[in-house]
Amino acid sequence: MHEAQFYTKLENNKVLCKLCPWDCKLETGQTGVCKVRTNVNGKLLTSVYNKVAVLGTDPIEKKPMYHFYPGRNILSIGEVGCNLHCSFCQNHRISQCYANEFAGFNNISSEKIVNEALKTWNNIGIAYTYNEPITFYEFMLDNAKLAHLNGLKNVVVSNGYINREPLKKLLPFIDAFNIDLKAFTNEFYIKQTKGKLEPVLNTLKTIAKGNAHLEITNLIIPNLNDDEREFEKMVVWISSELGEQTPLHLSRYFPQHKMNQPPTSINKLEILYDIAKQYLKHVYLGNVSDTKRTSTYCINCGELLIIRDKYKIETNGVDESGSCINCQTNNNIFL
Ligand code: SF4
Repeated sequence: MHEAQFYTKLENNKVLCKLCPWDCKLETGQTGVCKVRTNVNGKLLTSVYNKVAVLGTDPIEKKPMYHFYPGRNILSIGEVGCNLHCSFCQNHRISQCYANEFAGFNNISSEKIVNEALKTWNNIGIAYTYNEPITFYEFMLDNAKLAHLNGLKNVVVSNGYINREPLKKLLPFIDAFNIDLKAFTNEFYIKQTKGKLEPVLNTLKTIAKGNAHLEITNLIIPNLNDDEREFEKMVVWISSELGEQTPLHLSRYFPQHKMNQPPTSINKLEILYDIAKQYLKHVYLGNVSDTKRTSTYCINCGELLIIRDKYKIETNGVDESGSCINCQTNNNIFL
């Protein structure tokens, strides 16, 4: 067990965790909503420091991340726990279990992870992903610092459910984020995730004001968050608050966890894609086979910049700085 950051001690050995918007007030022996932070005799401890549940190398497109070093690999780590409880979670076996229920941990130090990243072929750095990395904040932060010292990039794939102060402490060490914006109504967040919408919007605005690259994923679930007017409000907000060059991934839902309704229709995805394209320059469909709607085109001249055919990536349309080879326009691509 490792002492957590961002908590205050209260009367009678209680603690207040201030890492995420739950602001859990815990008596001794109690564990927070995230299932991995526990009050032990008036100290808040994390059960998952150095405890890696999943370690693998993925194409960066799988995060999904389309404008950040396309065609490269990224060493990816995950642990257990999550501070949202989504009925449709695609990783519920690791996200929705208590640390002390999980038998498959490997104790791996940051030094070992960084060494592994350095010797992995075509690898740009380390992604904190699979479960919610905010729940292993302390380990992620230490790991990210060491990764930067060794010239590696850090990528966070997150639900964005974090308080402002810990986010600001993390920002200087993270090069790119993919944040899930699960819907654009508080009602959806409360009912389907047990969280709230506003903290996620605040996280997105804070990241967009900083230096890190930002992409957004929106999982489209039939009849729950696919209302076209609601969706249009969301893309208008993304464009005006975060910038029209913010890449948006519209991901196809498949039945998972507590949700068993049929997958999102391709027709619905294409309708939402067309709406999003009215306001945003880079919109992609995910979990589908569609080279046209997964490739990148220049926002100025329309040149095909990056072809994506599943995980076969060709970046022939961009120069070394990530600009269009035809008209030199910046398309928010990092190479
Ligand atoms: S990080 Fe965990 S313990 Fe802390 S406030 Fe969030 S859910 Fe509660």
